[in-house]
Amino acid sequence: MVVNRRDVLAGMGATAFGALGVITAEKAYAEVHRTSPLQFYGGFASGIRPDLSPPSVPAGSVVWSGSTDTRRVALTFDDGPMPDWTPQVLNTLARHEVPATFFLKGINVQLHGEIHRKSVGTHELGNHTWDHPDLARLDYAECHRQLERTSAIIEQRYGTRPTLFRPPYGHLGGASLLAAAEQRLTTVLWSAQMNENRFEGKPDAIVGSAREAAQPGSIILAHDSGPRNRLITIKNLDSIINGLKADGFEFTTVSDLCGLG
Ligand SMILES: [Zn+2]
Repeated sequence: MVVNRRDVLAGMGATAFGALGVITAEKAYAEVHRTSPLQFYGGFASGIRPDLSPPSVPAGSVVWSGSTDTRRVALTFDDGPMPDWTPQVLNTLARHEVPATFFLKGINVQLHGEIHRKSVGTHELGNHTWDHPDLARLDYAECHRQLERTSAIIEQRYGTRPTLFRPPYGHLGGASLLAAAEQRLTTVLWSAQMNENRFEGKPDAIVGSAREAAQPGSIILAHDSGPRNRLITIKNLDSIINGLKADGFEFTTVSDLCGLG
């Protein structure tokens, strides 16, 4: 059996509890880890850093919508930039003079970063990890690296460091919340989303569902990369924006909607 740092931490937890020896804890850890995605004993616990030093901040913030007082929403697009869809999204947004928030994968910025070279100042660019892991299954060090590496390349490419972070799948563990807070990133979820799976081949229905889902303050989830069924949102973005405007909605970035920064 390979003993990694997680096993050591698990052993430390067991020792601290005084119930199990280190070897027993390692065996128990391996058994649980093999049969369950859930972790135990500290390795993934929020607030515990690998070197056991105290967290550098006492709390972080998580948002899923903005103020409900005005008819404003934030469109968000995850997983880009990618050359096939992102330019289409940017062109549509430009035609309507609508700002949006893009949650970028670091690896895509490295490969296709030029796509957003004109976005700074119009759109908001957030951190969506380097390569889209399920952060709830990673320990603090790995979560920290996913976020830090992505923020670094966004800053390098666009001259501005992100202040927002969206976890892949909206899936959070304590370690990812801690890593985000320590990097002064606000964690952004969503309160409405495009339902591409339900409305494949039904453009009127996807527009209707977007109009139905949008509420004052909504953060709306969409994607500018991924499986082809998501194209229905991209191809009908004109109609979605027109429909939401007809319903009296204005568009803004997540930070503006949520009064951040
Ligand atoms: Zn994603």
